[in-house]
Amino acid sequence: MEEASFDFTCPECGEEFHERVEFEDVEEVASHERNGDVEIQYDFKGNVECPECGHTWEVTGEFWEYPSGVFYNAQLTR
Ligand SMILES: [Zn+2]
Repeated sequence: MEEASFDFTCPECGEEFHERVEFEDVEEVASHERNGDVEIQYDFKGNVECPECGHTWEVTGEFWEYPSGVFYNAQLTR
Protein backbone atom coordinates (compact mmCIF):
# COMPACT_ATOMS: atom_id res chain seq x y z
CA MET A 1 0.00 0.00 0.00
CA GLU A 2 1.49 3.33 -1.04
CA GLU A 3 -1.22 5.92 -0.50
CA ALA A 4 -4.75 6.49 0.75
CA SER A 5 -7.20 9.39 1.15
CA PHE A 6 -8.35 10.81 4.45
CA ASP A 7 -10.43 13.66 5.84
CA PHE A 8 -8.49 16.46 7.51
CA THR A 9 -9.14 19.64 9.40
CA CYS A 10 -6.37 22.21 9.09
CA PRO A 11 -4.99 23.10 12.54
CA GLU A 12 -4.16 26.61 11.30
CA CYS A 13 -7.27 27.84 9.50
CA GLY A 14 -9.89 25.17 10.24
CA GLU A 15 -10.42 24.23 6.58
CA GLU A 16 -11.95 20.77 6.18
CA PHE A 17 -10.77 18.83 3.17
CA HIS A 18 -10.20 15.35 1.75
CA GLU A 19 -6.65 14.64 0.67
CA ARG A 20 -4.52 11.80 -0.62
CA VAL A 21 -1.48 10.96 1.50
CA GLU A 22 1.58 9.24 0.07
CA PHE A 23 3.01 6.79 2.57
CA GLU A 24 6.62 7.30 3.63
CA ASP A 25 8.76 5.38 6.10
CA VAL A 26 6.51 2.33 5.92
CA GLU A 27 7.56 -0.03 8.65
CA GLU A 28 6.33 -3.45 9.70
CA VAL A 29 5.50 -3.24 13.39
CA ALA A 30 3.61 -6.43 14.18
CA SER A 31 2.50 -9.71 12.69
CA HIS A 32 0.55 -12.71 13.80
CA GLU A 33 -0.91 -15.93 12.44
CA ARG A 34 -4.42 -15.79 11.09
CA ASN A 35 -6.07 -18.83 9.53
CA GLY A 36 -2.73 -20.28 8.47
CA ASP A 37 -1.60 -17.04 6.82
CA VAL A 38 0.15 -14.06 8.38
CA GLU A 39 -1.49 -10.74 9.18
CA ILE A 40 0.93 -7.83 9.26
CA GLN A 41 0.52 -4.35 10.72
CA TYR A 42 2.45 -1.45 9.21
CA ASP A 43 3.07 2.10 10.38
CA PHE A 44 3.58 4.98 7.98
CA LYS A 45 4.27 8.69 7.90
CA GLY A 46 3.06 11.26 5.42
CA ASN A 47 2.71 14.96 4.81
CA VAL A 48 -0.48 16.94 4.30
CA GLU A 49 -0.86 20.42 2.83
CA CYS A 50 -3.91 22.55 3.46
CA PRO A 51 -5.38 23.71 0.11
CA GLU A 52 -6.67 26.88 1.76
CA CYS A 53 -3.68 28.35 3.61
CA GLY A 54 -0.77 26.16 2.52
CA HIS A 55 0.06 24.95 6.02
CA THR A 56 1.81 21.58 5.96
CA TRP A 57 2.13 19.05 8.72
CA GLU A 58 3.14 15.46 9.29
CA VAL A 59 0.69 12.67 9.98
CA THR A 60 1.26 9.09 11.05
CA GLY A 61 -0.99 6.10 10.58
CA GLU A 62 -1.25 2.38 10.22
CA PHE A 63 -2.65 -0.24 7.89
CA TRP A 64 -2.83 -4.01 7.69
CA GLU A 65 -2.01 -6.71 5.18
CA TYR A 66 -4.06 -9.90 5.08
CA PRO A 67 -4.00 -12.18 3.30
CA SER A 68 -0.60 -11.65 1.70
CA GLY A 69 -0.72 -8.81 -0.84
CA VAL A 70 -4.10 -7.43 0.30
CA PHE A 71 -3.92 -4.14 2.20
CA TYR A 72 -6.81 -2.72 4.16
CA ASN A 73 -8.03 -0.45 6.92
CA ALA A 74 -5.57 2.43 6.55
CA GLN A 75 -6.21 4.96 9.31
CA LEU A 76 -4.48 7.90 10.87
CA THR A 77 -3.15 7.71 14.39
CA ARG A 78 -2.08 11.34 14.58
ZN1 LIG B 1 -5.29 25.82 6.46
